[in-house]
Amino acid sequence: MANKSTSSKGSTVTAETPAVAATKGKICPIVKYGDPVLEKPAATITEFDTELGQLVEDMFASMYAANGVGLAAPQIGKSIRLAVVDVTLGKNPEAKIVLVNPEIIHAEGEVREEEGCLSVPGFRGYVVRPQFVTVRAQNAKGETFEIRGENLLARAFCHEIDHLHGILFLTHLSMLKRDLIKRKIKKLRKEGEW
Ligand SMILES: [Zn+2]
Repeated sequence: MANKSTSSKGSTVTAETPAVAATKGKICPIVKYGDPVLEKPAATITEFDTELGQLVEDMFASMYAANGVGLAAPQIGKSIRLAVVDVTLGKNPEAKIVLVNPEIIHAEGEVREEEGCLSVPGFRGYVVRPQFVTVRAQNAKGETFEIRGENLLARAFCHEIDHLHGILFLTHLSMLKRDLIKRKIKKLRKEGEW
C-alpha cells in the first residue's frame, strides 16, 4: 500500500528514519499494474527457512525505499502468501509486521478513505474498508499469531491480503473511476512511461 502522502513531505519522513539505513534487505523493483503476477492468487508458504527470512528483509527494504506502508510479495514478482506492513514508515522498529499466510478472521465497521498502491503509482481512489480487523497469520518462523488493526492499519491489512488473492484496490473503486485510471495507464504504457 502506498503512503498517504506521496508528495515531498513523504520523502522527508523517510530521510529522518534510521530504520531505513539499518535494514539488511536489498531493494527489489516493484511490479506495476498490468503484470499478471498481481492478478493471480498467491501460493501458501510451507517452508520457514533462512530464504524466507531474507525475503522478509528485502520486502521491508523495498517498501521503505518506495515510501509504502505495506507491500505484498506478488508486488516484487513472488506469488507467495507473504506481506509486510509498517504504518510508521520505519520510524518505529516495533511497528514492523510480517504476515505469512494471513487471513482476516474478524472485521467491524466501515471507513471510506483514499487509498493508493505502490503497483499503481500516481493514482488514488476512495475505498470502503472495515474500521477494525483481526488477522490470523504466521510469522517468518512459522508461529501463528493474531493481530488487531484499526483505521490505517486495518486498511493496510485488507489491502495487502487482497494482493495475496490477486485483487487490486482498483477493484473496489467505482466503475467510472476504475475505467478512468485504466485508460490513463493504457495511455502511459503506449508512451512507454509505465
Ligand atoms: Zn498495493
